[in-house]
Amino acid sequence: MAASLDAFARAVEADTGDPSLLSGDGTGMYVLGGRMPFLVARPASHEAVLSVLARASEGSLGVVPWGGGTSRRAGYPPERYDVALSTERLSAAVDFLCDDLTAVVQPGMTIESLNRLTRPEGQTAGLDPANPGKATVGGTVFAERSGPQRVRWGRARDRVMRLKVALPDGSSHTYGALVVKNVTGYDMNRLLAGSWGTLAVATELAIRLYKAPERSGARAAGFGTAGEAFRAARRLMALPLHPLWVEVLDAGRIEALGERYFLPGPWCLAAAFGDFEEGLAEALRRFEDLLGREGGRELARLDEEETARLGAALADQPGGDFAREESLAVRASGRADQLPRFARAAEEAAGKGGFRRAVAAHAGSGVLRAWLAPRERGVEPRAAWDAFASLCRAGADPAAGRFVHVRLDGGPTSLREQIPVWGEDALDPAALVLMRRLKREYDPTRTLSPGRFVGRL
Ligand SMILES: Cc1cc2nc3c(=O)[nH]c(=O)nc-3n(C[C@H](O)[C@H](O)[C@H](O)COP(=O)(O)OP(=O)(O)OC[C@H]3O[C@@H](n4cnc5c(N)ncnc54)[C@H](O)[C@@H]3O)c2cc1C
Repeated sequence: MAASLDAFARAVEADTGDPSLLSGDGTGMYVLGGRMPFLVARPASHEAVLSVLARASEGSLGVVPWGGGTSRRAGYPPERYDVALSTERLSAAVDFLCDDLTAVVQPGMTIESLNRLTRPEGQTAGLDPANPGKATVGGTVFAERSGPQRVRWGRARDRVMRLKVALPDGSSHTYGALVVKNVTGYDMNRLLAGSWGTLAVATELAIRLYKAPERSGARAAGFGTAGEAFRAARRLMALPLHPLWVEVLDAGRIEALGERYFLPGPWCLAAAFGDFEEGLAEALRRFEDLLGREGGRELARLDEEETARLGAALADQPGGDFAREESLAVRASGRADQLPRFARAAEEAAGKGGFRRAVAAHAGSGVLRAWLAPRERGVEPRAAWDAFASLCRAGADPAAGRFVHVRLDGGPTSLREQIPVWGEDALDPAALVLMRRLKREYDPTRTLSPGRFVGRL
């Protein structure tokens, strides 16, 4: 291994003339699934990324693209992990075409920096992953991360207009164009968004923007049961109010948010709206009426600043015990009528082995996330995962078009070695065959994140 790493380093330096591109220092910051890379590559150009990938592929090395590292607890530990390819020196804005509502950026730009770029023009990319100060545009798109605002702006992959990528064979490709109607043939951007660094490395992304709402505000009310809160959320979604986010939270998530937010419980439905002044007032009034009719208690009214602060806190993960290495982050998605079932599944999972739980659902998008923190050391998390997955899936009925997707977003490495973390045990075998073929086509040497994604491809 040392010899091939040596040859790799010499070849990359000869290609790029950049002696600082590769380093053996600071590799401890890039641990993934208990494994540490030998080298960190910090390319500063598209050509340098091509060189790293081509030379790694020649030397049978494993390379994991690394943005902000905020998804490091997701997926399987990589099978081979020689080089972390950091995008930190690829973090600039390339072009901001504000009249065309488009920002062209390098992948290492953080979501916070992208917001700083677009906000003065009254525009937003609508990307709201956890930890926006660290999460990068490239990482957010390639992990298909979306937060509470998915209900308003759609998924991360819908935001990509043009993508420039480097492939493991050292070739470059640009997919899409700077116009919305640009699709001929297969939509490669949507294939790559969500491919978790297993197929290609993005070196430039053109992101579609939207006009940001002029004003925003939120309301929240407490309900006695999850079923009541989710029913009110469904009724809200049936109204033409286009909320910014619609969240249902349990008492654990409310408590984890801390004392800055006096949200009512034990189950809270909170929704934010964004519009011009009169439109906002109308939406808030109609939502308040609905909360009253549905039996919501202790109405809380949030002004613009409180709404922005709560929206950001809801996009983040709960901290404290829930953020510890041995805690679990689980996720289920499906039709909105399945959310009460997912909430029951989280409750049952928490009961297996004694976990404290925090539950939050993007109730307008059919996504529920739960965090489980062991009450004491040495708790075995396997039974909790099995209970969560099986109860969520009991509501699936593919023949009626009702799909349920479960996955483990974070958990101890020992658990990630044991279970199908992407939920691929419920995957149609034909889909897995197709994904394996795509992997072989794009990355025949299995250079990029080998073994990390669905079916350990
Ligand atoms: C080798 C490979 C092949 C791909 N082939 C396709 C393709 O043919 N068509 C396409 O649209 N996209 C494909 N993708 C991209 C990616 O899988 C999609 O963007 C993503 O799966 C969105 O799927 P969904 O709508 O089911 O998402 P969601 O239900 O939102 O899934 C969320 C996340 O689950 C993970 N996931 C993706 N696929 C699966 C799966 N099959 N089983 C379990 N977990 C999964 C992903 O991280 C995804 O982002 C491929 C990616 C890879 C690495």
